Amino acid sequence: MTFFPLPAFNDNYIWITKDDAQKTIWAVDPGDAQVVLDHCRNHEVTLAGILITHHHKDHIGGVAELKAQFSCPVYGPESLSPALVTHPLRQGDCLTVQQTEFMVLETPGHTLDHLCYFAEPAQQDPILLCGDTLFRGGCGRLFEGTPAQMLNAMARLRELPQNTQVYGTHEYTLANYRFALAIDGNNQALIHANNEAQELRDQKRPTLPSSIALETQTNPFMRFDWQEVVAGAAALLNEQPAQDLINGFAQIRRAKDGF
Ligand SMILES: [Zn+2]
Repeated sequence: MTFFPLPAFNDNYIWITKDDAQKTIWAVDPGDAQVVLDHCRNHEVTLAGILITHHHKDHIGGVAELKAQFSCPVYGPESLSPALVTHPLRQGDCLTVQQTEFMVLETPGHTLDHLCYFAEPAQQDPILLCGDTLFRGGCGRLFEGTPAQMLNAMARLRELPQNTQVYGTHEYTLANYRFALAIDGNNQALIHANNEAQELRDQKRPTLPSSIALETQTNPFMRFDWQEVVAGAAALLNEQPAQDLINGFAQIRRAKDGF
């Protein structure tokens, strides 16, 4: 099973996986129907299903039109209207995409309804479809959830197999790394990852997918329990470093928000 990105809007990726025998695709967070419709026409495939991670417009904006055109199942959070989501999901639910079973992880923080999808297909690296929860080098802003919730999400994703391939929705990598380097500038893995990402972007290629191993080593929001990361964020805020993990995580998030 391979996912590849269809660019949408300024910096979104609609991740697609194709079944060559069936000539069908599944789409993750199709915020723009036209991007998916163009792909289907150009490659003579039809849409077999949709996964949604959360309710933001740039993730669901194309769902109604695509569902009407292809009469396909739509899997997503319970918070969304039954008119949009045919299969509402909760923590621990499973669903099958092209013979591969995905497990649902609830990761509130960016929004309260945010879901991630995790799979371990045979003979390949595990897959995490993580929407706006985890980006390469960053995490989603806390529009609805609390720092404690997002910290919990990061801690749980950090426990996934290190070779898990991480498919976030946005190409925010270089901006994320500018911030990460400002608070964690001695991190050699981060310096290396930034150089690699810069080369990819120079060639107009996506910096995704990432991996849990790379995020664990380089992403400041996954390094919330490293004293130097919290101290770096506190310095940007002109504050003392927090003495507990939740307030430390909140400092990293506020430092990024104001960066
Ligand atoms: Zn979002």
